[in-house]
Amino acid sequence: MNPIKQILFAFAVLALFAAAAFPQSDPNAPIRVTFLHVNDTYQFTPVEGGKRGGLARLLTLKKRAMEENPHVVFTLGGDTLSPSVETRTYKGAQMVDAWNAIGLDYSVFGNHEFDISTAELLKRIEESDFQWLGANVVYADSGKPFADLPEFVIREFEGVKIGIVGLLLPETKETSSMEDTLKVTDYCLAANLIVSRLRMVEKVDAVVGLTHLFMEQDKKAAGCADFDLILGGHEHSLLQSSAFGTPIFKMTADAREMGKFNLNFDRKTKRLMSLDWEIIAVTDEIPDAPEFAPIVAKYKDLLERLAVPVGATSVTLDALSVSNRTKETNIGNFIADAYREAVDADIGFVNGGSIRADLTYNPGPLTKRDVLSMLPFNNPIVKVEVTGAVLREIIEHSVARSAEDNEPGRFPQVSGMSFRFDASRPAGDRVLEIKVGGEPLNESKNYTIATSDFLVSRAGDGYTMFSKGKVISGAEGAPKDSDVFEAAIKAAPNATIAPKLEGRIIREN
Ligand SMILES: [Zn+2]
Repeated sequence: MNPIKQILFAFAVLALFAAAAFPQSDPNAPIRVTFLHVNDTYQFTPVEGGKRGGLARLLTLKKRAMEENPHVVFTLGGDTLSPSVETRTYKGAQMVDAWNAIGLDYSVFGNHEFDISTAELLKRIEESDFQWLGANVVYADSGKPFADLPEFVIREFEGVKIGIVGLLLPETKETSSMEDTLKVTDYCLAANLIVSRLRMVEKVDAVVGLTHLFMEQDKKAAGCADFDLILGGHEHSLLQSSAFGTPIFKMTADAREMGKFNLNFDRKTKRLMSLDWEIIAVTDEIPDAPEFAPIVAKYKDLLERLAVPVGATSVTLDALSVSNRTKETNIGNFIADAYREAVDADIGFVNGGSIRADLTYNPGPLTKRDVLSMLPFNNPIVKVEVTGAVLREIIEHSVARSAEDNEPGRFPQVSGMSFRFDASRPAGDRVLEIKVGGEPLNESKNYTIATSDFLVSRAGDGYTMFSKGKVISGAEGAPKDSDVFEAAIKAAPNATIAPKLEGRIIREN
């Protein structure tokens, strides 16, 4: 190419770029607003051995999206301040730092935001450069919105007005440590009132629901109010549904994917004409944004301490939430055994929802982070004595949501006992057989159970029946779940564990 042609070619390329970068220059082009969405993101570093997630990569994706279209809204579908290894030290401040660096716009509260104290949560809200939402989270006494948060926000792009409403899971009280000063009101009623107001009074052109609900509830919410799009969270599954004409999306967890949603509005009428979306895998092929480096530097010491090895596994450990909440798992057996031995009880009992990480661990070394990722809550392990009749109630309760929910957190992992159940039978009458120490359950006999204090003194996951028992050793001075777990790994031959499935839990239907 001669020099003059080269220059002309360069101009042509520049003109093409300009057209791509500024599509609004076409007077008939729709006004496009891009929502970027992730949910249930507990750590800013990548997961799966560095292969997936990582907020430094997310920032790169956001910058790319902004080059295509400057009208970007970045949303988080809740569950980020807890649980995680880092939160034991920083109470979620590390995630607020990370989201501030990303330039997050809005987050709805997830149930796990209420694992930390209300006082700590108020500090996190103060530190956040982004807006927290949760229209149905109120003070129990006054009914006023928690933390004086707005019930909705409105964003305007070239005259297009979009209302955004946050809604939180009604089960938050049972699945977190939400204090009694707070209350979660009916999400359907809240959605109905607020969205009507957005449409009739505020005259918005579109409404986006930013939710932390179960999919069934999201579907119901779509019938309660006139949403154009619902971006959710909570399940840790990639879900794409539609109800009452409203599309509903959720990513898995830990920013393994980012949802990208283009809302296309008619330039004249401002009417929402169409929606395009793409689920983008966040992988190690996406470079880290250099702007994120100060966050990694700030938490370097802790990140290094978490990398310390504590032992190894010679088998693949199944710490997936969906496994631990639906069936017997090898890691569930190992943890339940460790609890039982730690306080010398007949039975070890672990609610599947307390086993986190949501990963499988391949054979190889286990680090401090791995231990704390699987058991991040720092729960004391207590010993309670109950009658066989109460033990039966506990086991019935443990499977009472097994047909109703995809991942009921109450589902148990057990040690020193086994049971068989049929999830197609009515809740409360599902358990077909229970054995303790190989013997059939004797309803009038007493049994001791090692379990988390969360279930005993706080009736976590609805386990109110533990209060009928007698506490033999309480939370005061009790060993902590992750310490018990770590000690059990170290006590294994060569500090290498190899737990297996043993038919402790048999599911029929
Ligand atoms: Zn959740």
